[in-house]
Amino acid sequence: MKSDTPPTGPMTGSAGGPVASPDRGGGSGATPGESLGGSTRAFRGLGVSPGIAIGPAHVVESGSVNIPEYPIAADAVEAEVARFNEAATKARRQIKKLKSKALVLPDSASEEIGFLLDAHLSMVTNSRLTRGVEQRIKQDRINAEAAIQAEIAAIAATFAGMDDAYLAGRIDDIREVGRRLTRNLLKQEYRAFSTLPPGTIILAEELTPADTALLDPNTIGGFATVLGGAEGHTAILARSLGLPAVLGAPGLLSGVRNGVTVIVDGLQGRVLVDPPAEVLADYSARRAARERERQGLKSLRKLPAITRDGTAVTLMANLELPRDLEHALEHGAQGIGLLRTEFMFMNRDHLPDEDEQYAELRTMVEGMGGRTVTARTMDLGGEKLAGWMAGRYGEPANPALGLRAIRLGLREPKLLETQLAAMLRAGAHGPLRILLPMIGSVAEVQKVREVMGQVARRLRRRGVAIADPLPPVGVMVEVPGAALSADALAYAADFFAIGTNDLTQYTLAIDRADEQVATLYDPLHPAVLRLIQFTIEAALRARITVSVCGEIAGDPRYSALLLGLGVRELSMAPLAVPAVKKRIRAMDLMEASRRARVIMDQSDSGRIATLLDDFNATI
Ligand code: PEP
Ligand code: MG
Repeated sequence: MKSDTPPTGPMTGSAGGPVASPDRGGGSGATPGESLGGSTRAFRGLGVSPGIAIGPAHVVESGSVNIPEYPIAADAVEAEVARFNEAATKARRQIKKLKSKALVLPDSASEEIGFLLDAHLSMVTNSRLTRGVEQRIKQDRINAEAAIQAEIAAIAATFAGMDDAYLAGRIDDIREVGRRLTRNLLKQEYRAFSTLPPGTIILAEELTPADTALLDPNTIGGFATVLGGAEGHTAILARSLGLPAVLGAPGLLSGVRNGVTVIVDGLQGRVLVDPPAEVLADYSARRAARERERQGLKSLRKLPAITRDGTAVTLMANLELPRDLEHALEHGAQGIGLLRTEFMFMNRDHLPDEDEQYAELRTMVEGMGGRTVTARTMDLGGEKLAGWMAGRYGEPANPALGLRAIRLGLREPKLLETQLAAMLRAGAHGPLRILLPMIGSVAEVQKVREVMGQVARRLRRRGVAIADPLPPVGVMVEVPGAALSADALAYAADFFAIGTNDLTQYTLAIDRADEQVATLYDPLHPAVLRLIQFTIEAALRARITVSVCGEIAGDPRYSALLLGLGVRELSMAPLAVPAVKKRIRAMDLMEASRRARVIMDQSDSGRIATLLDDFNATI
């Protein structure tokens, strides 16, 4: 079966269409975007969340930042200069990334935008601006944001005195660069989208996972951005919210007005700005057909996920945000296979305490009415860097390889203890499992178990009700080293959850959130499949449950392969459950196992894809 239901999992369309642009710097006069006649323009990117959204554009102004001003103590000056330099380094990285996207533009636009970005780059590289800011921090003892403001005002005053139209134009660029630096300093993630008219399409240079978590599907119709890859958490959140989204679409922001009608085609990876009436009518009809299909799939809600030859599969939901709970139940999820607790840490400047975390978790456990909830300890760090963490540890050179997930929990025991206490207490209200992210060794699991034992004893001494017996402790297998140690880990863990998003990223050395390498991100690479197979076999030998909770679990294309390899539990975005269930109910597991064996003998991922797609087309 080749599902005509759009997959909700990875969609590695090619990033970079005919156009690219810098940020909204202005000054280039180029109008990127494929012209479709009249004022209509089309952009291509990665379709990361299927569906069609049609609505008025809201262009996220990269410049809207509130600037704090405060004095700096003499002994804090050095740290403040370092903070500024960090922001400048980040700005250089961002501008270079935008510049590489501009390469796919038609020649003239590419050249013009390239010049503009070169100018921006030189403004954040040992320039009058950067030197001036450093000097003001040191001499005036003011914070970096205030120093940027003061220096830009001084440069503008000099330019104004020169009476030169070219230089007058450059001050806009300097202001743009100043806003970028300030945003980087403030690590600004929060953007208020709550006051927009219903159906609004957000267009932005980039949306962080924290920004995306604030999008309310009752208000927002969909979104598109210049930067971002198909497997980053922004994409995952889009799928979980059911919001059509296109990421990595070069040129998107140039010349788009707020309020103009935009179509986001999250399956094909297309964005159409100001489409003519006939195109609008065509997309409206497609949107209605898709909605009918979705409603049709919902009728499977009460039917079991059972193969044609009688094997039952457990379909669980991945939850990003509390509001996903309703979707999980509505779409027939049999439990929560992955609760990403990071939502409790996003868009706030203080940590949630034990009671707050307990209240959130208890709501989930009770809301699932006796179905298992798998709560993962916080996977902060990497691209999910909450504001407080950035302040504490600075900007890591390689965030995905740095202090994240369980490593952070073991480094900051209070954080882990608080979360484990909340989980143990929530476990008194219904079945709960605890899942540990980014585990690399048996020693880490043992250490967490030790901490959990201490926390449990403390709570019992205080007479607080907790799960009895203590909850099962599972390991996310998402680091190649963990997969290769699966034999040993299977005896330290009560269950496995294979995180194919990170496992693919780390095995292939492909940043899952980077649109530049999105076409190389391939969960069907034989190396990834071998690690998955090795993990499953280790779990089966040790007789522990093994699930897959990466994005491929929610894409019917992969169901036959995963089941054929021995998985009987899948966890996915709630909206993906019906389509995967449909695939499983049509599948002959004996045949799937045979095909999986053939696939595991292959060395080429293209051949593997063909074998899998052929099989899907026949059964
Ligand atoms: C994974 O890595 O596959 C996973 C499920 O975890 P996350 O996407 O939250 O990193
Ligand atoms: Mg992961």
